[in-house]
Formats: sequence, structure tokens, C-alpha cells
Amino acid sequence: MKEFKIAVLPGDGIGPEVMEQAVKILKVIEHQEKVKFNFEYGLLGGCAIDADGTPLPEQTLEITKNADAILLGAVGGPKWDQNPNHLRPEAGLLALRKELDLYANLRPAQMYECMAKASSLKEELVAGVDIMVVRELTGGIYFGEKKRYEDQNGKEVAVDTLLYHEDEIERIVRMAFEIAGKRDNRLVSVDKANVLESSRLWRSVVERIAKEYPNIECTHMLVDACAMQLVRAPKQFDVIVTENMFGDILSDEAAMLTGSIGMLASASLTDGNLGLYEPVHGSAPDIAGQELANPIATILSAALMLRYSFGLDDAAKRIEDAVEDVLNKGIRTADIATTGEISVGTNDMANYIAEIL
Ligand code: ATP
Ligand code: MG
Repeated sequence: MKEFKIAVLPGDGIGPEVMEQAVKILKVIEHQEKVKFNFEYGLLGGCAIDADGTPLPEQTLEITKNADAILLGAVGGPKWDQNPNHLRPEAGLLALRKELDLYANLRPAQMYECMAKASSLKEELVAGVDIMVVRELTGGIYFGEKKRYEDQNGKEVAVDTLLYHEDEIERIVRMAFEIAGKRDNRLVSVDKANVLESSRLWRSVVERIAKEYPNIECTHMLVDACAMQLVRAPKQFDVIVTENMFGDILSDEAAMLTGSIGMLASASLTDGNLGLYEPVHGSAPDIAGQELANPIATILSAALMLRYSFGLDDAAKRIEDAVEDVLNKGIRTADIATTGEISVGTNDMANYIAEIL
């Protein structure tokens, strides 16, 4: 029997509540697929600061390094907001990403037909939107050299450096082509090649790699045009690949086309099969412990894990279909409920999904 080791890091706030639901779903899949999931729990974030005095304890790092994949709830909360930087819950997650060299961030944004009616955007515009943003996560302007100094007139000057090495671009672009090949064979590479040198390098690397993937339709778009097209005609996009800062902005934009933050999953990948999977939302301290949290984002993150780390594509699809089925039946947690639907709590939402599975 195939075995997979999953590092489970529930974290803070609603993290543990939504994680419990994702594990519940994975146990159903375990039976169906005849595989064995070994869940190893670790502390990360605020709960780790409280227990061990550090947001990323050595033991947690050990667990994650020995795992086939990492499933994360959420970290943070007002309790630790006044802490110095290295004792912030978020510092634990940043350190973990760096330790594991998770250079690719995948953010699917999918609009379920049954949810499009309730959207604040025009239904015909967003119904059927299904976009995957692939964002470079460990390079670019966020990590380049920073400087602050005074000019001759005593006025302050600030510098951020946008730097990319060819091989950093190559690995993320290659991953995006692979992902496009598993979806609709369409890839849009986003840059600002009309003004940025780093973008001109980016574009030339994309063109070189594209020759290896003749079956994938690859086009270039400037980032300002992409930002506009995402709200004008989002259905034209399937996979978008872009550098760190552009991806930060565009992935949030794409996500908000599709509605609630409680439904959005993400994956952070490196070479090989290891990946870290987590909901896009935070620890939501305002609703923690009240059975109000929507577990779908975490459950869909677990589905991404099955697909990208374990190669269990069918099982991933079954989870995604079960989520859509439950939504089609009008079952909603409070955050996505409109009138005339059946409002359920965190546990029951997962139970309905498990039942359909
Ligand atoms: P962070 O800094 O960790 O991102 P935040 O306060 O910016 O925290 P979230 O924790 O994501 O953002 O919460 C934003 C809002 O969305 C809150 O009102 C929260 O209750 C709500 N929210 C977030 N996640 C969920 C969820 N899974 N289900 C229901 N509501 C949620
Ligand atoms: Mg936030």
C-alpha cells in the first residue's frame, strides 16, 4: 500500500477548526484510494511561540522536512501583534517557506456557477471563471537589495532592487507550462517588458521554454493590460505565470472575482513533489471557536496536495466535485450564505462534503 507522510500544522485562530475538517475528508480519500496517510502534527505560529518561545520550533521543521507534503491552517492573531518581528507568528511561516525553498505559489480562482448569481459582479462575466495564477515567490523586488539614504539636499532616498537570475525564471516558467499542460493548454505570461529589463529577460526565457511545449498556446501580456482584462473579461485566462510582485497583486485580484476568502486554496511548491498547502485566508480571530469558519478553502487545499504532491489526480477532482455538489444543493456557511439557502456550521459543511464523497 502506498504511504504518504503529511505534516499537519493547524496553527492559530480558526486554523485548528478548519484543519480538523480537511483531515476528515482526507480520511475518506484514504479508504477510497487504498492509500495510507500518516498525519504528523506540529506547532507553527502563535501557538508555537506560546509553547516553545519561537514561531518555527526545530521539531516542526524536522517534521516538515521528513514529510511528503505540508498542510497548514493559518497563523497569527492580535495576541502576538505587539511582539517583535522575529517573534511574530508570520515569521514562522516565512522562515518555513525559505527553509523549504518554496518558490512557486499557485492560487486557483474558480467561480462556481451556482455562486455566480450571488456575486456582486455581473453573473455572465464571472460564471465559469477558472484561473490558476502561478506566482514566483522567492525572488524579485521583495528580496532584492534595499537602501535608504539622504541626497545632497538632505532629502531621503529609498531604493528597492528588482533582480532575477535566468534560472530562477526558468524553473517557475517550466512549472507553469507543466501545469498548463494538465489544464487547458493555455498560458499567459505577464510582465512589463516595455519598461523593465528584468521583464525583458523574463520574456526571453519564456520564449525559449515555450519551444519545448509546442502544444501549449503561450502569449505575453503587460501587467497593466492583464489587471484590466481580469476585470473586463476574466474567462479568457486559464494559467497566468508572473514574477513575485505582479503575482502578489494579480492573484488577489483574480481571487476577488470569485467571491469569498473562505473558499480560496493555495499551494507553494518547490522542485520534486514537496509542497505546502494552505487556505488563502488568515486565522480570522473574530470568528474563531464559534463553528462559523468556512472549511472549504482548507479542504480544497488538501485536494491540491493530492494532485500536486501525491499525483492522486482523480481523488483531488472528486473532492472538488463534491464541494461543488454541496454548493449546488444550496448548503452554505455563514460567510457565503444569501437568503433561501441552508446555513450550516464548520463541521456540518465538511460532513456534507464527506457524505457526497
Ligand atoms: P491575516 O493578517 O492573517 O490575513 P486578516 O484579518 O487580514 O488576517 P483573515 O483572517 O483572512 O484576514 O480574515 C478576514 C475576514 O474574513 C475576517 O472577518 C474573517 O472572519 C473572515 N474570514 C476569513 N477566513 C474565513 C473563513 N474560513 N470562513 C469565514 N470567514 C472567514
Ligand atoms: Mg490579510
